[in-house]
Amino acid sequence: MSTEHEVGTAAAHRVVILGAGYAGMAAAIQLAARVRRREGVRVTLVNAQERFTERLRLHMTATGQRLAEMSIPELLEGTGAQFVRGWVTALDADAKTVRLDDDRVLHYDTLVYGLGSVADTAAVPGVEDYAYTLNSVQDAELLAERLARLGSGRVVVGGSGLTGVESAAEIAERHPELNVVLLGRQEPGATMIPKVRAHLRSALERLGVRVRSGVEVVKVLPGSVELAGGETMAADVVVWTSGTRVSPLAAAAGLAVEERGRIVTDPALRSVSHPDVYAVGDAAAIRQSYGVMHGTCQGGMPTGVHAAVAIVRALKGKKAKPFRFGYYHTPVSLGRHDAVVQFTHPDDSPRRMYLTGRRAAWYKETVSASPWSTYGRMKRMPAAGAFWPRGGRFTRVRDAR
Ligand SMILES: Cc1cc2nc3c(=O)[nH]c(=O)nc-3n(C[C@H](O)[C@H](O)[C@H](O)COP(=O)(O)OP(=O)(O)OC[C@H]3O[C@@H](n4cnc5c(N)ncnc54)[C@H](O)[C@@H]3O)c2cc1C
Repeated sequence: MSTEHEVGTAAAHRVVILGAGYAGMAAAIQLAARVRRREGVRVTLVNAQERFTERLRLHMTATGQRLAEMSIPELLEGTGAQFVRGWVTALDADAKTVRLDDDRVLHYDTLVYGLGSVADTAAVPGVEDYAYTLNSVQDAELLAERLARLGSGRVVVGGSGLTGVESAAEIAERHPELNVVLLGRQEPGATMIPKVRAHLRSALERLGVRVRSGVEVVKVLPGSVELAGGETMAADVVVWTSGTRVSPLAAAAGLAVEERGRIVTDPALRSVSHPDVYAVGDAAAIRQSYGVMHGTCQGGMPTGVHAAVAIVRALKGKKAKPFRFGYYHTPVSLGRHDAVVQFTHPDDSPRRMYLTGRRAAWYKETVSASPWSTYGRMKRMPAAGAFWPRGGRFTRVRDAR
């Protein structure tokens, strides 16, 4: 690999963070704020865009709603961290280098890998060619343009998980002229208690969303979708929200990954095969005593903060602490004025507590707005980001490494 671009000097400990999503951003701000006065630590954050992508709101972008401009370089100002805009195309875990699409090569001593995940467009034939996704702002804007031009017709949302529900509700609310169908294997809100599920269902009905659960889309064609069993349903637009897929870069670099390509970590969030690589957010397979965490913002931000704190401890020669996290809620928007919030046990099973209606919509809005202000607080006071539910007895381990 060429070395046209070097970050830092040979003497500096170079920490390169890949991906400025919810997790990578938390890692970068937390680390930069903690090492601010420390000579010899260089923090570099690499991301495809300068603007922070509020993934939690991409269904709003997809219906033409304008979101606030959030500049990553501006947020990093004054922290000493460097921002590099670029698309990561390769990782060499032995040479400890990262290659970008313009052939720049960044050298690291410690890497934080937070490249996130996207909806899986490869599993079902035709999705890649004919379906829209919420995988990036650009994808969501393309969908918004198409929906705005449609005038009438049917929108099929493939995938009845929470992103599918939020997308179907938002499209139906913003485009009452369209006929929205939500298709998926599971009933919407399947993991929630019956009262919450019932509210979710009646809200979708009120918005005019037709729900068909227990079905599987096996093919997307121009103008239709094919279901298992042979039925074909006409569709002017297909929105794909089902499944998740991670970047192949980690596996290609020889890092130990699980069957879905996520980096397998030790309790401190280091790669089990390459301990100089920390994995955070959706790109990491992080085991807790209740199982492997699934990708969320609520869990992703703490992973970033923990990785940053672990790196600082390692630089001081201190032992790493195990990462512990317990889920606490599942908020789901149902358009702009309604929502459900299912409070959960740390293992993500539902509690009896919940919110619905306007209070839930307010709660969901507060949750969606909170990451950016949390980063701002962390920049001034890193400890402000170090609070999250550790999961109590659900995550307590006797034999933590
Ligand atoms: C519509 C929608 C609603 C959601 N609602 C919720 C919710 O209410 N609550 C919740 O907890 N979770 C929700 N999620 C899930 C949540 O958004 C993810 O779990 C979260 O974004 C994961 O954070 P991350 O930092 O791991 O990855 P991401 O936020 O996806 O960030 C990854 C970053 O890496 C960049 N990147 C990727 N590949 C490269 C590359 N090769 N080179 C350079 N940069 C790259 C991306 O551009 C991005 O900036 C929702 C998701 C969607 C799509």
